[in-house]
Amino acid sequence: MATSTTTDRVLNFSAGPGILPEEVLRQVQEDIWNIDGTGMGIMEHSHRAATYDRIIAEAIEDCKKVGTIGDDYEVLFMSGGASAQNHLIPANLLPEGGTADYANTGTWAKKTHAECKVYGTAHLAFDGKATNYKFVPSQADLDFSASPAYFHYTSNNTIMGTQYHYVPEPPLGVPLVCDACSDIFSRPLDVTKYGLIYAGAQKNLGPAGTTVVIIRKDLLERTPRELPTMLRYKVYAESESRPNTPPVFPIYVVGLVFKWILSQGGLGPIAERNAAKAKIIYDAIDATEFYRGHAREDSRSLMNISFTTPSPALDKAFLAEALEAGMDNLKGHRSIGGIRASIYNAFPAEGCETFAQFMREFERRHG
Ligand SMILES: *Cc1c(COP(=O)(O)O)cnc(C)c1O
Repeated sequence: MATSTTTDRVLNFSAGPGILPEEVLRQVQEDIWNIDGTGMGIMEHSHRAATYDRIIAEAIEDCKKVGTIGDDYEVLFMSGGASAQNHLIPANLLPEGGTADYANTGTWAKKTHAECKVYGTAHLAFDGKATNYKFVPSQADLDFSASPAYFHYTSNNTIMGTQYHYVPEPPLGVPLVCDACSDIFSRPLDVTKYGLIYAGAQKNLGPAGTTVVIIRKDLLERTPRELPTMLRYKVYAESESRPNTPPVFPIYVVGLVFKWILSQGGLGPIAERNAAKAKIIYDAIDATEFYRGHAREDSRSLMNISFTTPSPALDKAFLAEALEAGMDNLKGHRSIGGIRASIYNAFPAEGCETFAQFMREFERRHG
């Protein structure tokens, strides 16, 4: 893969679509013109021809390598964003009249819980609303229903900046379903604990346009109701995710990102780097009383750091001055305001140092 150094790009703290590894972008630049010496760009290739055969096979294989995913799981590339999974999961896994359990830890978790109600009963095993979504539940906080069809949780809450630092355990035999949009492959993952994991590509894996779904094979056999072809997981599993024309370009880029993760040494080194990166910024928040983190300390996200300065006016000044200094997309989500620094896998450690330095200087000027 080509490598080079950035000179003309800002520090991009976007929560999604997010920053991509520079090596990947350089490779994409080449392949848009002519991939594999075929005389055609990646976007111009048939999804039934040899180049894409290679791309999809490698994407699945590399995903399995990155996540140490066994042959009892399928890796799917679907469309409709992570939001489509809100209905696809109950449609495919929840029996008529059944109950599924959910943990409400913020905006995305709430949306997925709401959609389940179309198909059956959605039981809240935890609701963080009253405590302003400042923390994720501990195992003891989870109050499961009698026999849920599955338990759904959101491993990282992109907006609130909270993250589970353990894998919650549903009752014995109940599949664990995880929305891992904003922290998939940011740390080692024990896939064997899960029935289904999904992530829209645009946070930590690639461009928008495809959603990675890792599903245990036995769950493909659940057919609780008749469903249109394009809504069935099994259809994707049986066709290398190309029952129709797939989003070739985003899947191709995600494939390159998997190769990039492997080139970094895999999830162990990636996780170490992510922890060190987040610490740089949390240390700057904790140094004085000037900045306030949104998340309770034990639930702090290593991917999305949401915080405020002493006032909305200062938040605004912070964003303006940061932009001036080459740091973009730091505005907090409209639902909680303030500032949010998203530091996905591809975000450089030096960028965190630069940002922490900026935070200290801003505080000195305005504190
Ligand atoms: C961004 C996000 C979503 C929604 O993703 P779309 O692909 O836009 O549907 C869902 N869950 C989490 C945790 C997210 O961060």
